[in-house]
Amino acid sequence: MNLNIAGRTALICGASKGLGLGCALALAGEGVNLVITARGEEALEAAAHNIRTRANVTVATVACDITTAEGRELALNAAPEIDILVTNAGGPPPGEFRDWRRDDWIKAVDSNMIAPIELIRQTVDGMIARGFGRIINITSSAVKAPIAFLGLSNGARTGLTGFVAGLSRQVVKHNVTINNLLPGYHATDRLGAAAKAIVKNTGSSLEDAEKTLLGQIPAGRFGSPDEFGLACAFLCGAGAGFITGQNLMLDGGAYGGTFG
Ligand code: NAP
Repeated sequence: MNLNIAGRTALICGASKGLGLGCALALAGEGVNLVITARGEEALEAAAHNIRTRANVTVATVACDITTAEGRELALNAAPEIDILVTNAGGPPPGEFRDWRRDDWIKAVDSNMIAPIELIRQTVDGMIARGFGRIINITSSAVKAPIAFLGLSNGARTGLTGFVAGLSRQVVKHNVTINNLLPGYHATDRLGAAAKAIVKNTGSSLEDAEKTLLGQIPAGRFGSPDEFGLACAFLCGAGAGFITGQNLMLDGGAYGGTFG
């Protein structure tokens, strides 16, 4: 399938590893030029090199913390026009809500709600003016089915989801769509953090913790960043302009509701 987005420019946040890198590779495969960000420069440059060897696109790298105003300015200055925005950053730490104070909540909301909203604010009007825009927020299955030890994530990401639910309906008439990808358990570094939280809470071994997580997935396996990236690319396609305000679960069937 040709998604008809070759030559477009995407800003993909948190793209040196994991799900962000999966999105970057899939979009590059469609001929989309990239700006990719992450804090660690070495992994970011390695990711850019990997993408360039696989696809004939330009890949600009911006080593920055996307949860800060300075970081976002650097990232946005790397390309004059952003047609596709993939918001993403590390998830908040697991823990127990009685231990969290205002600063912990502010940090989580800053990273997983305000940062995406600020990026959208700074790119959406250009997309509207050019009559094309695709915005994808990488959130979490926890938005639909809260995970007890990830309370900071449950809260902050649901705030973002509520906001973009409204905005997506305001901008779609300009062929600008906003959708959220909700990962269940995927085989990335972040998965290790979830397993370690189980170890901490239950005293089980890491191996048993991973088995516990696997046992929650009807597909019987963890998701891969590559298949996550393909879903992202599809929603960014020229033909996906009628799909907006959606929360797409990628969880191997883990969510137990009758409807997704
Ligand atoms: P990952 O493998 O740890 O990769 C995270 C990427 O984001 C890295 O490139 C990281 O690079 C970058 N990053 C983190 N914080 C950043 C910041 N402040 N500014 C810029 N870049 C930043 O994680 P992942 O599994 O791809 O997860 C992506 C998102 O999906 C996270 O929010 C995670 O909580 C969520 N999620 C993941 C799963 C899963 O099973 N994997 C499930 C549910 C939700 P640097 O560290 O060098 O900055």
